[in-house]
Amino acid sequence: MPLLPKDRHARKLDKGTTPSRKLFIGGGLITVAYVSGNRLLDALPASELDAIRDDLTILTLKAHQSIHSIGQVMSHVDFPIDAVLSVVATLKNGDTVEVGTTGNESFVQSEAALESWLSSRTSFCQVEGRVARMDIVCFERYMKTSDNFARFMRVNLRAVLFSSQQFTVCNIKHNILERSARWLAMTADRVGRPQFTLAHEFLAIMLGVRRASVTEAADKLHQLGAISYQRGLVTIVDGAILQKASCECYEASKTAFTASLTS
Ligand SMILES: [Zn+2]
Repeated sequence: MPLLPKDRHARKLDKGTTPSRKLFIGGGLITVAYVSGNRLLDALPASELDAIRDDLTILTLKAHQSIHSIGQVMSHVDFPIDAVLSVVATLKNGDTVEVGTTGNESFVQSEAALESWLSSRTSFCQVEGRVARMDIVCFERYMKTSDNFARFMRVNLRAVLFSSQQFTVCNIKHNILERSARWLAMTADRVGRPQFTLAHEFLAIMLGVRRASVTEAADKLHQLGAISYQRGLVTIVDGAILQKASCECYEASKTAFTASLTS
């Protein structure tokens, strides 16, 4: 019986072929081992990644597509490739605020690495793109049988925890312009391209502010020459200006994840 969920967008990774691709490195094309596109998975030793690749299914998620609801038994974990996934908390009055955003540096639902089968928050796709999905039963098995796999997942959780704490400070100390710039710079890194779709109202939810405040911040970033924003399509015009406009939390989180992927 297949462990992986059926989905018309799903495709299994190629089997029976040498997993490799050509990359332009150091001025020439070099054949390298299979890479998934998720930086956490690709940080695993090559033999480890090769061993788990049959248990990964590549899916394309649509923007706002639900992944797990709070209290739901988790069926899988997602390792984003170029999708951006959001985890949100909803208060009793219905207000929803983002408590975590995940891209190709990590995975959702990370509590699965802490022996939890229930989703503690609601998660959905924020920016359309691909994920490598692993059935929760497979994930649990690798956590128990592969020291390398378990270690990389847990070390990654340290960066998730650090970033979560950093963004708590961010929400208190940094203004909406800085936070908007930080969110957009992180998103561009995660999707790996300078253009992505994002509705004002969702960025407002993500930052826990009014939509008008997000519009004001986007206008300011446009005036600075950092981005253009038309009909929900964000274009990073100058990444350096965008990073300069963002608060220190952008660099702090990036450094934490880079360290976790190389430790
Ligand atoms: Zn900040």
